[in-house]
Amino acid sequence: MLLIVVDQFRYDYLERFGDLFVANGFRRLMRDGASWTQSNYDHMPTYTAPGHGTMMTGAYPAESGIIGNEWLDRASGKRITSVTDESVKVLGGGPSEVGSSPSRLMASTVGDELRLATSDRAKVIGISVKDRSAILPAGRHANAAYWFSTTTGNMESSTYYFTQLPAWVNTFNAARPADKYFGAKWERLLPEKEYLRRAGPDSPPWETVSARGDTNAFPHVVTGGAPGPGTDFYWALDYSPFTNELLESFAEQAITNEQLGQDDDTDVLTLSFSANDYIGHRYGPYSQELMDSVLRVDRDIAKLLDFVDARVGLSNTLIAFTADHGVAPIPEQAAVLGLGGARIQAATLFSTIGKALSARYNPQGKSPDPSADYLLRFKEANTMREWLINSNLYFNYDALRRDGVNVDEFSQAVCAAAVTVPGIARCFTRIQLMRGATSITDLIERRALHGFYPARSGDAVLVTEPFKYLAETITATHGSPYSYDTHVPTIIMGPGVNAGRYLEAAAPTDIAPTLSALLRITPPSNSTGRVLIEALKK
Ligand SMILES: [Zn+2]
Repeated sequence: MLLIVVDQFRYDYLERFGDLFVANGFRRLMRDGASWTQSNYDHMPTYTAPGHGTMMTGAYPAESGIIGNEWLDRASGKRITSVTDESVKVLGGGPSEVGSSPSRLMASTVGDELRLATSDRAKVIGISVKDRSAILPAGRHANAAYWFSTTTGNMESSTYYFTQLPAWVNTFNAARPADKYFGAKWERLLPEKEYLRRAGPDSPPWETVSARGDTNAFPHVVTGGAPGPGTDFYWALDYSPFTNELLESFAEQAITNEQLGQDDDTDVLTLSFSANDYIGHRYGPYSQELMDSVLRVDRDIAKLLDFVDARVGLSNTLIAFTADHGVAPIPEQAAVLGLGGARIQAATLFSTIGKALSARYNPQGKSPDPSADYLLRFKEANTMREWLINSNLYFNYDALRRDGVNVDEFSQAVCAAAVTVPGIARCFTRIQLMRGATSITDLIERRALHGFYPARSGDAVLVTEPFKYLAETITATHGSPYSYDTHVPTIIMGPGVNAGRYLEAAAPTDIAPTLSALLRITPPSNSTGRVLIEALKK
């Protein structure tokens, strides 16, 4: 079983660039597989970790516990990532790197269930540039996950899986495969006229690239502004399409050396290409760079499928293809086009909420204002800042208790103030979400509920209006409950699947239960998706 993910890949890329694909990549998946044209994530925030935590568990972040790439850990008061784990060490990474593991993933995966069903004979391996994208789809009982270290240029892992890297991984790293891209020139694959037609000019004013050693125009020379391979270069490599090639060759090595698909027990390889996400963030979804990275990942996937066909046989392989989220147009572009693009500043949000809280909880204007610390804050460069992560606000329970403030009333006061900020469309309180006082027929309320995990989420969840970013300095991003972020491909190909284009509503949460049905195993623990029976042979 092979899961292929392209990070930040909207469904419309298959249509906009489809006539330029090669025969044996996406075109093969769409021709020989079952492809759902109306597949949407039904949760927010739409980020990498929540998406990767969903596709092999069939569970929303509300059940997987993976509510963001990062969140505030209330117990330690620290910002943590979905996979950081101080109890394990990295293998193949630099000395300053913190270990990573799936210990925060609450649900089992298809791979976990296959291992349970086969007394661990099934092998399960996850691969990506990003740790979270390698670790989460593979699961807690996986044999291994490997990701790219931007400090060493190696494919690394952690002591969660084993005490040392397998010999074949050391051999792969010893050849310094990343370093050969130092100074590589990224040019368009095809003549520029193809790009002008589908993605517009190369250097529009909203493409603001401030990265060292790069501009917003082709060709892009990959050095990171450094004289040789090192951290600056490895970071720059992430923003090029070349890591796809690196991952594809590593995946071939994994298939060969771990003998995946070579016996009667189904093995699982999950491979998540990250370059599209980095490139999409830097240049936006309507850029020549993004278009070129889609054409290139098509060719990388073609190469992988050809390899799997030769080694295992595609007729013996179940394949799923999806993405973790889409992406919104760059706000400045959306503004020029009259779509209401804008950036909402955190300072504006907090000054509006602060004034409203002050008026309500400090009507006499006492100094110091007791309501000044009602929102939870942290110290950054000698300034106290309010926590705002994944559009979640966190309350300072100690301060509210100190002043005898009713939390329910306070939540409502915060939300009432937040929605007066231009560009904020909705605000849900923790109490509202926990009581189920939300409508499941209201798309946005439902997506907020599906993204809320009580022990990790904040106390107020904000939603911007479409095409607006909250407190984001990055050129283009995702995270919203809107179509541009939720509409992604869902393709399943292999034995038992009727090829075709399916117009039924589907979601990436449907992938795990459908694969489980095809593999005839117990679905993952929190699988809430639908078995896509319209495409299954009886
Ligand atoms: Zn992203």
